[in-house]
Amino acid sequence: MVHQQELHLNTARHGEMHDLTHRVSEVVRATGVTTGIVNVFAVGSTAAIGCIEFEPGLEMDLPANLDRLLPPGRDYAHEQAWHDGNGHAHLQATLQGQSLTLPIADGKPVLGTWQQVFFLECDIKPRHRTVVVTVYGE
Ligand code: ZN
Repeated sequence: MVHQQELHLNTARHGEMHDLTHRVSEVVRATGVTTGIVNVFAVGSTAAIGCIEFEPGLEMDLPANLDRLLPPGRDYAHEQAWHDGNGHAHLQATLQGQSLTLPIADGKPVLGTWQQVFFLECDIKPRHRTVVVTVYGE
């Protein structure tokens, strides 16, 4: 069977991370799927999804290091075209990735003990975000 549903969240600032592990696990549990895959996708071109150990150090390190790789204020062509100040946000989201697919086993997404699903806000202003969760399996 296939089940799809949206999660919604509000973000306040660039670099804000949310732990989605519980919400994604709850979607999977509610479907009754025991073996399959779950895909988690951030809608919008300035938000990222991935796995990390969700702890306060890495919650600072990931956005800080993306800012080092792709800092705000660089002379991005996106800025020359749109003047919206978020060229780095688009590039950070693309580099990190905007979706994640996990196996489902025993009715749960397969994750290590220190491995959580995160959402990362890359944009520079508060946003209302939609994450689409698709569960496929039996
Ligand atoms: Zn833009």
